[in-house]
Formats: sequence, C-alpha cells, structure tokens
Amino acid sequence: MSLDWWLSFFVAFAFMEWAAWALHKYVMHGFLWSLHEDHHVINKKSRFQKNDLFAVFFAVPSFLAILYGSLGGPAWIEGAGYGVMLYGIVYFMVHEVAIHRRWRFFNLKGRYIESLRIAHHHHHQVQSKEGASNFGMLVPPLHYFTMSMKDLRRLSPAYQAAHSKSGDSSD
Ligand SMILES: [Zn+2]
Ligand SMILES: [Zn+2]
Repeated sequence: MSLDWWLSFFVAFAFMEWAAWALHKYVMHGFLWSLHEDHHVINKKSRFQKNDLFAVFFAVPSFLAILYGSLGGPAWIEGAGYGVMLYGIVYFMVHEVAIHRRWRFFNLKGRYIESLRIAHHHHHQVQSKEGASNFGMLVPPLHYFTMSMKDLRRLSPAYQAAHSKSGDSSD
C-alpha cells in the first residue's frame, strides 16, 4: 500500500466523523427526519429501523471506491473507500452494539466509551426533530472527557432517572 493509499485512508476516516455529524444534524434532524424518527422513538417490537437505511448512504460510495481502486483506479480512491468502510464498522460497534445494545456481540468499557455513551444518551433525551444536541459520534464535546468519572456517571440518564424517582434530587 502506497503513502497515497494510507493518507487518504486516514483522511477519509476522520472526514467521516464530520460527515456523519453534518448528516445527523442537518439531514436526519432536517428534511429526512421521517427516516431518523424511529431511532428516537423506538418500536421495541421491530428488529430494524428505517434509520438503518442511512448506512447505505456511505456503504455504496465506499463499495464503489474500493471496486474502482481494485480494478486499476488510483490508489488514493481505494484507500478512501476503505477509510469510509472502517468508519462504518467502528460506528456500528460503538453506536449499535456498545451504546444501544441492539446486538450484544460484545461490550466496550472504559473512560472513552463511557463519555461517548453518555453524550449520545443526551442526544436521545430529546425525542423530536428540534432541540437535540451532540450529533457527532466518536468526538463528543470536550467536557465529557474533562469532567471526573463520578460527575460523568451522575450525568447519565439512568442515574438521573433513578434519583428523581426516589425523590432524592439533591444528591
Ligand atoms: Zn438523532
Ligand atoms: Zn442513537
């Protein structure tokens, strides 16, 4: 693999975090809310969500770039295709498996994943098109990393629900 290949691989991976953020903020919570809505208001009886279709948005160009590169096209195009593919795999493992537990192949633990989990749960506290925060996935706002683990846990919706139920909101 050439330097071109690796460079575009890493650039494509990093760019995807921005692309996923922009798609989520301006398209999914914009004119295609009708496809994203069932990820916020979940029908527990259904294994799949209309929202899953968004994966195709990135899988198709990624597949075509890899195909074109492997058929003799420029190395950087193939590298970019693999960068997008890797982002898709990581996104699936973090968002569907580790955060939402839709599939329980494995679990991920640790400070980084805990920050992502709580940032994303905050995104889900709003069940409507307007008013949500934290649209990114792998790079949430910095304060999720700088606060102590104890404060982070207290911010988790599960912790807050448990404490508001018992009437103990001072703690
Ligand atoms: Zn959303
Ligand atoms: Zn989610």
